[in-house]
Amino acid sequence: MNKSDYINAAESSLLHTYNRFPLVLDHGEGVYLYDTDGKKYLDFAAGIAVCALGYSNEAHKTALKNQVDALLHTSNLYYNEPTIAAAQKVLAASGMDRVFFTNSGTEAIEGAIKAAKKYAYTRDGHAGHEIIAMQHSFHGRSIGALSVTGNAHYQEPFEPLLPGVKFAEFNNLDSVKALITDKTCAIIMETVQGEGGIYPADEAFLSGVRALCDEHDILLVLDEIQCGMGRSGKMFAWQNYNVKPDIMTVAKALGCGVPVGAFLMTQKVADKSLAPGDHGTTYGGNPFVGAAVSAVFDQFEELSIIDHVNEVAPYLARRLDELVDKYDCLTAHRGMGLMRGLVCTLPVGKVSAKALENGLIVITAGSDVLRFVPPLVIEKEHVDEMIEKLEKTLDEMK
Ligand SMILES: *Cc1c(COP(=O)(O)O)cnc(C)c1O
Repeated sequence: MNKSDYINAAESSLLHTYNRFPLVLDHGEGVYLYDTDGKKYLDFAAGIAVCALGYSNEAHKTALKNQVDALLHTSNLYYNEPTIAAAQKVLAASGMDRVFFTNSGTEAIEGAIKAAKKYAYTRDGHAGHEIIAMQHSFHGRSIGALSVTGNAHYQEPFEPLLPGVKFAEFNNLDSVKALITDKTCAIIMETVQGEGGIYPADEAFLSGVRALCDEHDILLVLDEIQCGMGRSGKMFAWQNYNVKPDIMTVAKALGCGVPVGAFLMTQKVADKSLAPGDHGTTYGGNPFVGAAVSAVFDQFEELSIIDHVNEVAPYLARRLDELVDKYDCLTAHRGMGLMRGLVCTLPVGKVSAKALENGLIVITAGSDVLRFVPPLVIEKEHVDEMIEKLEKTLDEMK
């Protein structure tokens, strides 16, 4: 089959929930992807912040292959060794006390919401609690996760959603304060907003929210699904701030391509929240994904991924700043570590499409942001190559 055959087959069989770019990807190596025509692309999207180790990492692949040979799945009725190792590694990296593995980021959010509700239920002896979420947030597409996603366009057709969710303005502490009632059980936010346009939390905002939570026995839930796993320059973005969440979620890069997420909590929350019978999953934390997570943490250590991010990220930041100076259509640069956005006055979808022609994969966030979430193993030379391809793209669009 040629490219248009593949695309026609996809468009006549898959539910049309995505407007896909006309690209049929075949394989990857390092920070490059190749399509079925053999065309090479420099990848600054990493499968939406998933493929932190790039493509075809040998140790990751070997761990997966070995686990395929040994045991794929057992259910959560029994213990399995890879997932025990994975749990210990994610707890050690986060300083949290308990972890529940899920199949996706969305399910991690669902678990976090349930844990927060159960905590307040145990504390107060009744249900009916409220959650404060942020405008322009993104937490996923299931009904619970969608209910805390501050995007009316995503929500409207599916209402009524979860009751008792209120939206504050991100980085506006007073707007959070104004929404707190004696029913509030949790404040949920991304440490760095991703889909909403790459907005890092302000230091004062996050520590202010932490203080409010402490004052009212409200749980702080930080969504690290996109900004976590080293992308910010620390393993988890909140570790750049002087705060610790009560519950956190992680997914995307956690398995580096193997579908796995997790929600984690402190022992204080665990003691008063989900107990046997309260929550479950058939697949979540099976041996296969456990082996993936474990291999990812091992590779992070072996390759000193965090140090590497801290070496390359300032260079990427500088080069993006230069672009903002050079191009009138680029009006601002925001971000943290290897999670960056350029505000662009050209239609960003068209910039993305044009960049593909030039062999560069770059995605968008919000309505006017070009988003850069490359594999964490990129080198400065790849940054230079990206800038060159992006400049060519922008020049062609003038
Ligand atoms: C991607 C994302 C999710 C949803 O994760 P899925 O794996 O797509 O279900 C939730 N929160 C944030 C911040 C995300 O970036």
